[in-house]
Amino acid sequence: MKKTTLLYEGKAKKVFKTEDENLLIVDYKDDATAFDGKKKGAINDKGIINNRVTNHLMQYLEKNGIPTHFVKEISDRETIVKKVSIIPIEVIVRNIAAGSLSKRLGLEEGTKLSKTVLEYCYKDDSLGDPMINEYHIAAMELATEDELKAIAEYSFKVNDLLTEYLIDLGIELVDFKLEFGKTSDGTVILSDEISPDTCRFWDSKTGEKLDKDRFRRDLGGEEDAYKEIMRRLLGE
Ligand code: UDP
Repeated sequence: MKKTTLLYEGKAKKVFKTEDENLLIVDYKDDATAFDGKKKGAINDKGIINNRVTNHLMQYLEKNGIPTHFVKEISDRETIVKKVSIIPIEVIVRNIAAGSLSKRLGLEEGTKLSKTVLEYCYKDDSLGDPMINEYHIAAMELATEDELKAIAEYSFKVNDLLTEYLIDLGIELVDFKLEFGKTSDGTVILSDEISPDTCRFWDSKTGEKLDKDRFRRDLGGEEDAYKEIMRRLLGE
């Protein structure tokens, strides 16, 4: 399978067309951005780690009943995925208060939420990905009622599966972001990535942050944190 034309270049990934119209190749970069692209930098080998961590978790989810876009890892940074049209909703799943939720609701970071919280954001960089609810989604026709039902059910199931898997590796899953897409026949499947860029991972014993907050908040040690996640998940 070879890359043909560049379809899209985002902040952390390039996406290429292939000879097969139903398949794309994702190529992960080391570039890191935060705060709607206002903070820019790079994290050494992040592209390799995010590719491998995402694929590892996508395969685990697929085995456990979540349909995903994963097809095949073809190199350290490149993966073949199913072509989907991305549903322009970012789903945020939260188990512990952190980041924007802590700010918005005045909850101290680290406060355990007594029930898992789902949030939706409209995926539009020029608007800064504003938070929306089911009514906005229906009014803007971003997804049908059935599609949104599938998205919410999959998101809770992904949370249960990942939380259980990570806790055995000494990692607390604080919150994360998911994106879903539709294949040509209209099936909703999990897409995008699941990595230290898109999840908050805290060491269960020490509470140490092992994710992109190290970069966002200038804590340092982001390369080691990403490597540590890969080591715990893939044993290397
Ligand atoms: N997140 C993401 N992409 C975004 C916004 C958030 O991957 O555009 C992830 C983020 O890494 C965290 C979770 O979603 O794991 C919740 O993020 P939050 O709303 O707290 O925003 P932040 O504090 O990161 O700005």
